[in-house]
Amino acid sequence: MKIPLTDLKAQYSSIKDEIDSAIQRVIQSGQFILGPEVKAFEDEVAAYCGTKYAVGVASGTDALHMALLACEIKSGDEVITTPFTFIATSEAIAKCSARPVFADIDLKTYNIDPVQIEAKINKKTKAILPVHLYGQPAAMDDILTIAKKHNLKVVEDCAQALGAEYKGKKVGSLSDAGCLSFFPSKNLGAYGDGGMVVTNDPRIAETVKALRVHGSKMTYQHFTHGFNSRLDALQAAILRVKLKHLEKWNEQRRSKALLYDRLLSQLDGIETPFVEKDVKPSCNYYTIRLKDSRLRRDELRKHLDSKGIQTMVYYPLSLHLQEVYKYLGHKVGDFPQSERAQEQVLSLPMYAELGEGQIEEIVRVIKSQIKTEIKNQT
Ligand SMILES: *Cc1c(COP(=O)(O)O)cnc(C)c1O
Repeated sequence: MKIPLTDLKAQYSSIKDEIDSAIQRVIQSGQFILGPEVKAFEDEVAAYCGTKYAVGVASGTDALHMALLACEIKSGDEVITTPFTFIATSEAIAKCSARPVFADIDLKTYNIDPVQIEAKINKKTKAILPVHLYGQPAAMDDILTIAKKHNLKVVEDCAQALGAEYKGKKVGSLSDAGCLSFFPSKNLGAYGDGGMVVTNDPRIAETVKALRVHGSKMTYQHFTHGFNSRLDALQAAILRVKLKHLEKWNEQRRSKALLYDRLLSQLDGIETPFVEKDVKPSCNYYTIRLKDSRLRRDELRKHLDSKGIQTMVYYPLSLHLQEVYKYLGHKVGDFPQSERAQEQVLSLPMYAELGEGQIEEIVRVIKSQIKTEIKNQT
């Protein structure tokens, strides 16, 4: 039995007719760049997230970059973010010529620790960029309180968290701007790249709208250098079909996560994902942590792989230790929680169509490997 980390074909076969006709509709229309499909999808995502505006762009990375530019992040500024995320998060900061400043995570949630944020604030600090990692919302109340106190912008990286809720509100709607990714493996995945900025701030929406078309508010009138970064009309049409299923798919992911939790809770040495109360995660990834030092994560990975079970480590090297950030002058030990997470986390197969029998099989394989490991070492 092969079990992939995520199964995009299973999802497609469940909605094939709707998808195929949406693609045909766009091809027949001849309108491939922006136009009615993109506009309709933007309106639908704004309504879904509970924001006034949504602007479709070419990727989640571009969404972050343009949202930060719209918040007037520029050379000499500092933006505080987590070292335990995908490079796109800090890359967006650096691409604004600003300095990414890392603050360690809370190992319980893998998200940026508000206590660590306060210690990093100085006169140059302009914004906080929390990531809702694996689909678990960051500690937004504390983050927004800190931001208000120091007059900072907050931009949420919601790439893994579309549909997740924090105290009854969708992530992305909680701060100045939320950045979405439609990379195929995300909760709402396109058949290619795509991204979006959601916001309640009309100036941010207008600026991102202009930046995505070469810094232009009127055709051939340019107030700044921008980007060629639009959400493709074909992808928008596909995503409109999928958006209608997103709540159901996320609910199915949450119920798979509960089954994993229940089966894995009997195992010593394994930490299952923590879920804050008043929070609904989007469960983009189901990530466990091997907190018993006798359990070797990479051996477990190999063993699962030999049984046809695909896993992934998000992320094996914290950003402060990446070559590209040598200029920030960090060393091993600077962010101990993030470094511990990089050694101990393992993401297991997670998608709406994942079968209960498959989850039982995965847990059975984990159990037998853990028993062997512990026996060999005692
Ligand atoms: C996927 C991802 C991004 C980037 O999104 P793209 O659409 O691939 O550019 C940014 N941040 C995080 C946390 C992600 O997982």
